[in-house]
Amino acid sequence: MSRICVTGAAGFIAGHVIVDLLDDGHAVHATVRNLGDDAKRAHLDVLKEQYSGKLTLFEADLLEPGSLDAALEGCDALIHTAAAVLLTASDPQKQIIDVAVKGTQNVLDSVAGTPSVKRIVMTSSIAAVMSYDQQDKTYTEDDWCTSDNIWLNPYGMGKTQSERLLWAFADNHADRVQAVAINPSVVIGRPLAKHHMRSSLSFIRNLVGWSYPACPPLRFDLVDVGDVSKGHVRALTSDRAAGHRIIFSDRQMSILEISKVLSRKYKTPMRELPKLMLYIAAWLDKRYSLRQARASANLRYEFRSDRPTELLGINLRNVEESILEAAETMVEKGWVKPRS
Ligand code: NAP
Repeated sequence: MSRICVTGAAGFIAGHVIVDLLDDGHAVHATVRNLGDDAKRAHLDVLKEQYSGKLTLFEADLLEPGSLDAALEGCDALIHTAAAVLLTASDPQKQIIDVAVKGTQNVLDSVAGTPSVKRIVMTSSIAAVMSYDQQDKTYTEDDWCTSDNIWLNPYGMGKTQSERLLWAFADNHADRVQAVAINPSVVIGRPLAKHHMRSSLSFIRNLVGWSYPACPPLRFDLVDVGDVSKGHVRALTSDRAAGHRIIFSDRQMSILEISKVLSRKYKTPMRELPKLMLYIAAWLDKRYSLRQARASANLRYEFRSDRPTELLGINLRNVEESILEAAETMVEKGWVKPRS
């Protein structure tokens, strides 16, 4: 048994990671931005009861230097998931990039002052791998995002710069700390709390709840949250994984294809908007700007994702199951009302 600190504990991926850590018998120091936010803490309170004495919650804001020190004390490892998961914002530097970069620097400074920490597993992203200016490309872990247009790709810039900080830190502290970066594509699966629908699950919520009257002509690379979570936990102890980036991505699907999977169980939109009407797609889904919808709609690329199996022994799940599981949970909990 080890003691593991997890940042961003109220979040979607961290929720699954914490359950897997507790199931494996670890003690968890979980940090949330605001301990007073009952709605975001409720599912963690249930886990606290269920795994008595094993889960301790701490308050930490990434942007405050030293904020992680108390939670890290006595921990053997850190899983750093916290970030602003936004693709666009009115002030992308402050709201997206600074949170990722200054936040990660503060986290690493805390690790530097905590000698017990021997490993860092950081949730990076395929956004730190892929670029908007490459066509017909098969991306691997050797690739780094080179798009640096702040209005087109602030999220990719933040994830790239923060992951580079991780590797520089690991180089400078190689006598004590080993690092692993997990680079997932769009993560889907069972939400553990209502607010988990706000980022990568939003398009499933929008399809089932008919916030999209037709499918935006966009494609996503998808991966199951259970695989990503297991990847973080195995990366804590795997010797083979140490020092590696690991892309987690099962397959690419259009929103229309995702809608067709959902239609096995729910009534969902079965038409795709023509590409010429991308501005409607951007208007339907406020997570994208028109600039981003245009740039991604015309890109052809894929990811090689061999390392989850090679380094961690994880065979990625077929995401069609994860799509349905996400929708079923949303409907069962009453968070989304499907059309009859
Ligand atoms: P999420 O549900 O939004 O979780 C992110 C968490 O980070 C939230 O709980 C948020 O706290 C916290 N956070 C944000 N700013 C913070 C700050 N200044 N101080 C402390 N905590 C802060 O997102 P997620 O989908 O689980 O993503 C987790 C990680 O995976 C992120 O690093 C993301 O970039 C990466 N990732 C996600 C996907 C995906 O498809 N979901 C794909 C690839 C990589 P609040 O709840 O208080 O806002």
